[in-house]
Amino acid sequence: MAVYIVLLGPPGAGKGTQAKVISEKIKLPHISSGELFRENLKAQTELGKLVQGYIKRGELVPDEITIGMVKERLEREDCKEGALLDGFPRTRAQAEALAQMLAQKGETVDAVPYIAVPPKVLIERLSGRWSCRAQGHVYHEVYNPSKIRGVCDVDGSDLYQREDDRAETVENRINIYFEQTSSLIDYYRSRNLLLEVDGTKPIEEVSREIFLSLEKVV
Ligand code: ADP
Ligand code: ADP
Repeated sequence: MAVYIVLLGPPGAGKGTQAKVISEKIKLPHISSGELFRENLKAQTELGKLVQGYIKRGELVPDEITIGMVKERLEREDCKEGALLDGFPRTRAQAEALAQMLAQKGETVDAVPYIAVPPKVLIERLSGRWSCRAQGHVYHEVYNPSKIRGVCDVDGSDLYQREDDRAETVENRINIYFEQTSSLIDYYRSRNLLLEVDGTKPIEEVSREIFLSLEKVV
């Protein structure tokens, strides 16, 4: 049986940060819908051109496009033992599509760690976030600085501040999370899959809590 884990939480909760640690430890590929979109933006693919306006405004990309992109990614060879999903699903329709695509392979979502962080903290996190151009490693200028300013510790590439991490877009993204995504907390809780962790703790402590909560599935 393959293992599918969905990381849930608002923008800035620490999903990407934790996904990098967990995926290395449990040897499952980290699939970030945001990263997939950004790769398409960088390469100026048809998909990239189609989605750039939504991302720039901090709105959700329409379900049909997002579901198609993630489905294709999950069908690749490296996902045959499962995957760690970060940033997908973000709507009820996406959650149902995910359940359906896994059911076709006789699989299900196994666990949903939910990284809980209040809105005030999110704004501070996103406005201080620096991301690596090559592989999306994430840093924070105060809470998790890179060793050399502006350079990724892991792969030496440049660090940059995402355009959608600007104050006016951040507020929009957080509002959209509460309107369209936060209902997935109840969706997964009612299926006994939700594992809530306190995301306000330091990065290593959050990792520890997530690992403890995942003991039964990996
Ligand atoms: P998400 O993928 O959920 O949007 P990220 O993993 O990109 O979140 O983290 C958002 C920002 O917060 C980054 O700058 C990251 O370094 C920082 N961060 C992540 N987890 C913590 C934590 N537990 N405490 C303090 N800062 C954190
Ligand atoms: P964050 O790390 O702050 O949670 P992401 O990198 O996951 O942000 O996503 C960046 C942007 O990409 C989102 O604001 C949205 O425009 C788009 N996006 C990512 N995942 C999805 C999704 N599952 N559904 C719709 N849009 C998405």
